Amino acid sequence: MAVVLKFGGTSVEDSTAIDRAAEIVCSRLAQDPIVVVSAMAKVTDQLLAMGRAAGEADRDVALQLSRAVRERHYNTASELLHTGVFGGLHSQLEADFDSLDELLRGIAAVGELTPRTTDNVLAFGERLSSRLVTAAFAARGLKAVLVDSRDCIVTDATHTKAVPLMDDTNDNLRARLRPLLEKKCVPVMGGFIGATREGVTTTIGRGGSDFSAAIIGAALDSERIEIWTDVDGMKTTDPNLCPDALRIKSIGFEEAAELAYFGARVLHPSTLLPAIQKNIPVLVLNSRNPANHGTRITARAPHCRNIFKAIAAKKRITIVDIVATRMLGAHGFLRSIFEVFDRHRCPVDVVSTSEVSISLTVDSNEAIPAIAADLEKMADVKYAGRNAIVCLVGENIRDTPGIAAKVFTAISDINVRMISQGASEINITFVIDERDVPQAVRRLHQDFFADFDSEVFARE
Ligand code: ADP
Ligand code: ASP
Ligand code: MG
Repeated sequence: MAVVLKFGGTSVEDSTAIDRAAEIVCSRLAQDPIVVVSAMAKVTDQLLAMGRAAGEADRDVALQLSRAVRERHYNTASELLHTGVFGGLHSQLEADFDSLDELLRGIAAVGELTPRTTDNVLAFGERLSSRLVTAAFAARGLKAVLVDSRDCIVTDATHTKAVPLMDDTNDNLRARLRPLLEKKCVPVMGGFIGATREGVTTTIGRGGSDFSAAIIGAALDSERIEIWTDVDGMKTTDPNLCPDALRIKSIGFEEAAELAYFGARVLHPSTLLPAIQKNIPVLVLNSRNPANHGTRITARAPHCRNIFKAIAAKKRITIVDIVATRMLGAHGFLRSIFEVFDRHRCPVDVVSTSEVSISLTVDSNEAIPAIAADLEKMADVKYAGRNAIVCLVGENIRDTPGIAAKVFTAISDINVRMISQGASEINITFVIDERDVPQAVRRLHQDFFADFDSEVFARE
């Protein structure tokens, strides 16, 4: 039985953070830890900026950005390691950065950044951080062994949001990791990255290291999956929006999955799927405050006196209004509409319909013009961006009458564009203008969390 420890970008952002991560791993040695790391904080964004600059033939800008990231990795490595050890790592990092620069020159020469090359560029973040962290852990006496995730996580070829192929992935993970655990080694892997069956590098979507950790935990039937981040666990809302957000001590899989899906960035939306399948508890913990108990996510949510567990918000939502031009009231209208979204592989979140019209929300802006063009063959289409979904989650919604009235009274002066209460009956979801999000969330938080059940929530 292993435990998976995933350290996010801020938890490996510099030598101090990596030192803290090493201590956390040491405290878990008896439980056979497997370590998954993100790229150092902000590096993925910087790599994306480099790729884009190169794609616009701005070679010098791309290389300059790359130089800054190179310096940061070298400096962190030299702070963490004695001169002798640093020498070996330095030449490995140097080789990686040289091939990144070569790639950027190639992109700049062609003047085009494809999704496939984007993945190649982005993967350097986790390749470099996992190398650096492995060396730092080894220098602290841990039997750390670097495992290239691209040799284990097999995905399809949907570059930048590739889907893991679970059978192959599980086989590879077990074959690679079990022998290492038997030898009491600590495998260290980069999150977020994988490869197709043909060995082409892929990434599984922004924030995907949480998902990588859960896949690895499920493959190894781990005892626990620990997500180490920069906050004391899952909170009742985004602490950036609401500084008095409470820590949720304990929450159910279903509730946490809804929150992650509707914008609680602290967990990638797919993280809980593998954990649910194998019933593995997921803990969200603060690497800057490891003594805090964080949030425990398990199959059964404890009973809670508050109606809601938390409020999430997801910005950059587009509302698409579709009005049937012909086939008024005809059956098959909805099906043809959804087929268009399906064909463009564009997930739909909130839906409301009348006899002749349908409104729905999607969170991908790029795909919209092409989708609208297809829809216009059968309907009048209007779309508007800069909206947000706000989602209140809690199992008590199921059996408490009159909740919607309370919610909409709290925000009665804010224009609500769509409303939906999910089939799961554990969320109330509505759509508002993006600019109204801070006000709406703060007011709802004030109304529903001023009093709280101290068995479930903590203010610290
Ligand atoms: P990591 O790099 O460790 O993966 P992320 O930045 O992806 O960290 O996620 C952690 C951040 O998520 C927090 O710093 C916080 O700003 C944000 N966040 C949004 N909603 C929530 C929430 N409900 N609870 C906790 N954090 C949240
Ligand atoms: N480094 C990747 C990102 O920033 C993956 C992750 O951190 O989870 O999106
Ligand atoms: Mg994250």
